[in-house]
Amino acid sequence: MATQNRPVIGYIHCDDCGERGTVHQSARGKGRYLYKRCGCGCDQRTGKAVQTRLYFGMDRVVPDEEIKRPMNVPEQQPDNLDKSTVPAVSDEPEEQPNEPESTETPQPENEPKGNGLAAFAVMGVGVGFLLKFMAGSL
Ligand SMILES: [Zn+2]
Repeated sequence: MATQNRPVIGYIHCDDCGERGTVHQSARGKGRYLYKRCGCGCDQRTGKAVQTRLYFGMDRVVPDEEIKRPMNVPEQQPDNLDKSTVPAVSDEPEEQPNEPESTETPQPENEPKGNGLAAFAVMGVGVGFLLKFMAGSL
């Protein structure tokens, strides 16, 4: 299964593997979170510290207007952007999923009960195959 690779919007050095990682922006979700790919793999953490560091710390290769600021990244670059002084804050806004209005439509329960039969048939084929296999190996 191939993971869809979003276009590279910037590069950032990774202290963990020493490689220059690529920065991408997720297309899904309201958060517009950034994620990084490097020798460590794909870093998709959405914490404020990680997102802020990616947003302000990467070398951008696309115009600024093409990069959307993730929802939990402050407008201004914080003074303490350095990784070693990232405060342990946890004031991330919780995402409230928009639950669709529940429509009280009664579900008809008249589906044919053929599942048991199908499973039995599959099991029979399996047993038949097994028997053939055992007979052939004798
Ligand atoms: Zn890395």
